[in-house]
Amino acid sequence: MGGFFGIASKRQCNYDLYYGVDYHSHLGTRRGGMVMYDRELGFQRQIHNIENSPFRTKFEKDVDEMRGNLGIACISDFEPQPLLIRSHLGNFAICTVGRINNQESLVELILNKNHHFLELSGGNINPTELVASIINEKNTIAEGIEYAQKMVNGSMSILVMTSECIYAARDFYGRLPVLIGQNDDGYSVSMESFAYQKAGFEDFRDLGPGEIVRITPEGVEQMKAPEGKLRICAFLWTYYGYPNSHYEGSTVETMRYKSGEIMADYDKVEGIAQDIDFVAGVPDSGTPNAIGYANRSGKPFARPFIKYTPTWARSFMPTSQKQRNLVANKKQIPIKVLIENKKLLFIDDSIVRGTQLRETVDFLYNNGAKEVHIRSACPPIMYGCKYHNFSRSRNEMELIGRRIVMDLEGEKGMNYLDQYSDHSTDRGKAFVEAIEKQMGFSSLRFQSLWGVTSSIGLDPECLCTYCWTGKE
Ligand code: SF4
Repeated sequence: MGGFFGIASKRQCNYDLYYGVDYHSHLGTRRGGMVMYDRELGFQRQIHNIENSPFRTKFEKDVDEMRGNLGIACISDFEPQPLLIRSHLGNFAICTVGRINNQESLVELILNKNHHFLELSGGNINPTELVASIINEKNTIAEGIEYAQKMVNGSMSILVMTSECIYAARDFYGRLPVLIGQNDDGYSVSMESFAYQKAGFEDFRDLGPGEIVRITPEGVEQMKAPEGKLRICAFLWTYYGYPNSHYEGSTVETMRYKSGEIMADYDKVEGIAQDIDFVAGVPDSGTPNAIGYANRSGKPFARPFIKYTPTWARSFMPTSQKQRNLVANKKQIPIKVLIENKKLLFIDDSIVRGTQLRETVDFLYNNGAKEVHIRSACPPIMYGCKYHNFSRSRNEMELIGRRIVMDLEGEKGMNYLDQYSDHSTDRGKAFVEAIEKQMGFSSLRFQSLWGVTSSIGLDPECLCTYCWTGKE
């Protein structure tokens, strides 16, 4: 998951930009980039591969040399960016976060006008270059951004920086947040609220879906009012949002406590896992759910294993699944006295392919656990994300939910995914039992859709829950 950060300030902002974008180091990103503008030096840009090295390490020399009071930076899933563009709209830098599902037809549209693209290795075209080309079709940058947002099927949040200002645009359905911060010297734009708070900015406001603003050190001017219907990604809260962040006024950490409380209530009503010794979370996002569960149920919270992090930073995420599983395994260090002969209830943020969780459960049994009960803090994931490059559910047939349905009923079962996701139905019960058996869980329950949306606390109509429901 990529992210971006920008600053328009009355003073030098190189270090604030550097630290601000580093706070967007989500999992599995491959490129990082920064661009700044200074009246004497003009645009200065650096891009590095951050697959095996943290953003800060790669940019620590560059940031000392960069100058300016305007800057944008990004952490990117695949493509090198920000790009520097020279067009009839002037010189500008651009970075994007999103996903273009109709890339081929948009490329055709631009090529038919006798424009060209640089080809990346593998024959791909840089999606940010494509967005820049679409913007260049219009007479102003704001008009061009609006046009690009309308043309893209998927989602597209955009930062464009000229020598005067930063244009910020949130994707048409607000799948990801874009927030503005303010301090005495100017404004920042970010996808994580805590990223600018650490740089001394206060919350100013969230952009609405499809909204476009022009940011200078002096103010924020609305270029286009919000238009689309808000469908912000519910996974921000359940999995990949950082605990300190808040989106649309709902804080990630406290949402996860509430979600854990609801799961504790379900278990009490069902009368299952009532004699466990410890409640624990699969780190990191499972842990606050476990705190909520423990507080509500009165069962003690514990950490039967700790992740070894000094040399395995959170941002380090190999691109191959096999390597990822190996890294996950190497990081897990058991605390034997909290595992041996104990009945444990572990909460994970979600169950995607199930391979890592299976290894964790085997690891707990190998260290002497008597029972391992598993709770997933969200419903079964049945659909791949269509709106951003969310690696957790890219290939639908790798999802454990779909694989179990195939095992139970074959292709026909795909017509009943909603029933399989609902534990109160016969199919839902068979689904849970099949996973328990296959994965060696003492018991398994999934958080309900209601449990997720009510923990977030926003109108469910404003949330994207496509991964679980298949409903847009
Ligand atoms: S499809 Fe899933 S991951 Fe993608 S925006 Fe919707 S809820 Fe989020």
